[in-house]
Amino acid sequence: MTVQPTPPPQGGCRNAPVLKERGQREVFCGLTGIIWLHRKMQDAFFLVVGSRTCAHLLQSAAGVMIFAEPRFGTAILEEGDLAGLKDANQELDREVARLLERRPDIRQLFLVGSCPSEVIKLDLSRAAERLSQTHAPRVRVLNYSGSGIETTFTEGEDACLCSMVPVLPKTDARELLLVGALPDVVEDQMVGLLEAMGIGPIRLLPARKIDDETAVGPNTVFALTQPFLGETAAALTGRGATHIAAPFPFGEEGTTAWLSAIASEFGVDAETFAAVTDAPRARARKAIAQASEGLNGKSVFFFPDSQLEIPLARFLTRECGMTALEVASPYINHALHGPDLDLLPAGPQIAEGQDVEKQLDRARAARADLTVCGLGLANPLEAEGLTTKWAIELVFTPVHFYEQAGDLAGLFSRPLRRRGLLKLEAAE
Ligand code: SF4
Repeated sequence: MTVQPTPPPQGGCRNAPVLKERGQREVFCGLTGIIWLHRKMQDAFFLVVGSRTCAHLLQSAAGVMIFAEPRFGTAILEEGDLAGLKDANQELDREVARLLERRPDIRQLFLVGSCPSEVIKLDLSRAAERLSQTHAPRVRVLNYSGSGIETTFTEGEDACLCSMVPVLPKTDARELLLVGALPDVVEDQMVGLLEAMGIGPIRLLPARKIDDETAVGPNTVFALTQPFLGETAAALTGRGATHIAAPFPFGEEGTTAWLSAIASEFGVDAETFAAVTDAPRARARKAIAQASEGLNGKSVFFFPDSQLEIPLARFLTRECGMTALEVASPYINHALHGPDLDLLPAGPQIAEGQDVEKQLDRARAARADLTVCGLGLANPLEAEGLTTKWAIELVFTPVHFYEQAGDLAGLFSRPLRRRGLLKLEAAE
């Protein structure tokens, strides 16, 4: 069975001309993903091989934990390492041995590359192989890059999950693999909805613990919960798994379409689907209607940052009554973003990549009611009288599926309400 989403009134944006830009960009680096990944994977440790700047970024973004030992840290490359005067590999081996001796709870160790480790060409994949051999079977050591040289911040999660795909056990069972790190409470809701339809076995990537039964093979079908997991999707396909293409589960419509695509793959009948989804759909519609009152009739402009831009523009235009003026994403991948582009009403400029000065000129000319952008651009644009929303908050806040749909609309309506209050105060 399939629940067909209502088609957009004037055709979608899948074939709309795309403005491709390659220039200076204003984004965080992939180390940012560690902030949510270390909470998700309960027996993992993320060891950034980087500089003091990397350590500061992590500490300020994650906050300082007082009562718990954090599951991330930085092996700092000192001047001697950077100048090639010391053997960085020997030092890394020593630091890892010390860490694993002190922390018997660690079962998976990720060596995370950074700009400095890439500049000195420290080969972390060989280091991970060597350390895996030393510390097997207790600890599995993998590596990925969180460097900000050519990446945007959500690529850190993609690179991390992608590094796990080659070491997943092989299975020939027909299983549903759900891919993307979600807060536990949201993940439980997602699994609960699918299991209530009789779909299973369900596996998760990332799994909460290394011993959880996540495997992959030719009969695996997988669905992404995040639109920034292109490399992971390609790696899973490379291991024989099949991708279920669907709009992403933001808002009532996106969630229903996403569930429907999976239900259809598993042969769930329409009555069962309705019995499971009718009540939460109604709750989500009501919550969105309440939270989006201030959004109806307003315009929105997206800078490329989180890679959530296309599905969120679809949600805001179709469920909250907004008009999108520009929807820019760091990358557009039709296999992943096509179903959302199909639903996005024609009209906005679709852009891929960034040339920040040119895009700022367009944003200033457009003067949208709401501009969604990175932290670095938000303050200057606010000073120019534009109302902004930090894109990074959308990744740190639970926003997927029915029960969070009202909160998602609320995240966009709050800055508009705040601006309205400030105007009122100024007028008094
Ligand atoms: S990885 Fe690069 S961009 Fe990220 S904090 Fe370290 S030096 Fe800065």
